[in-house]
Amino acid sequence: MRIGIDLGGTKTEIIALDDSGNVLFRHRQPTPHDYLQTIELIASLVDLTEKETGQSGTVGMGIPGSISPYTGVVKNANSTWLNGKPFDRDLSQRLNREVRLANDANCLAVSEAVDGAAAGEHTVFAVIIGTGCGSGIAINGHSHIGGNGTAGEWGHNPLPWMDDDELRYRAEVSCYCGKQGCIETFISGTGFATDYHRLGGQPLKGSEIIRLAEAQDPVAELALSRYELRLAKSLAHVVNILDPDVIVLGGGMSNVDRLYQTVPGLVKNWVFGGECETPIRKALHGDSSGVRGAAWLWPLGE
Ligand SMILES: [Zn+2]
Repeated sequence: MRIGIDLGGTKTEIIALDDSGNVLFRHRQPTPHDYLQTIELIASLVDLTEKETGQSGTVGMGIPGSISPYTGVVKNANSTWLNGKPFDRDLSQRLNREVRLANDANCLAVSEAVDGAAAGEHTVFAVIIGTGCGSGIAINGHSHIGGNGTAGEWGHNPLPWMDDDELRYRAEVSCYCGKQGCIETFISGTGFATDYHRLGGQPLKGSEIIRLAEAQDPVAELALSRYELRLAKSLAHVVNILDPDVIVLGGGMSNVDRLYQTVPGLVKNWVFGGECETPIRKALHGDSSGVRGAAWLWPLGE
């Protein structure tokens, strides 16, 4: 049995999968904003899962951050109480077994590569476009972390091929990472809503702007078409470097069905040489992909 845990800012979810990816057990609890309480919550959830299923399992964990290969402690987590802590080692000790830990976007990539929208594909680039913008890479179903633990942090590269208005946007909008012009500031749901507001729209949520665009509202339509172009330029950047077999989108903005019609053709305009047939697909397991991918950090055959 494989146990996966997705540690979110508000909820922590646990899942148990059998070898075929069937769900044996699933449970959610609010996430405490305290390090020791987080460890105790996870221990109690694993205990509950093993009691309910009558089996013991391997444990994989997705977090909104990563482990530094240099210091062995968590970095870049927006669940800030994890930062600076040797979370994987403390959990392994508490649970008396090795716990594998990965960034939540890497878990999305692994989940979709194992039995999702990119099942069986060699190189998968997965993007979570929600409040922020994270991305992860799976190669042969394994999370690719990189020597610095930074692989996939493409959201903090600058938006490529900026036009004059994007250069103005870069000057106006800062990224939480301390830089300006990051892809995340343009293509996250937050970036989409910010751009709509800049264009003269009301301060609305992404989903409300999408509904307006569907009703042919001209400002919402302009914001959405600009968003599509920016997403396309950002993904062309990925194709030019990694050329993945499949690109998978997750998070709130991945529910905008129009993106799958418009963005692939736009990507082609920006890829070197103009050839690109890379499929762009919606995450098959939706919001469950993170927790499933955490479980699949222990692949079949291991
Ligand atoms: Zn940034």
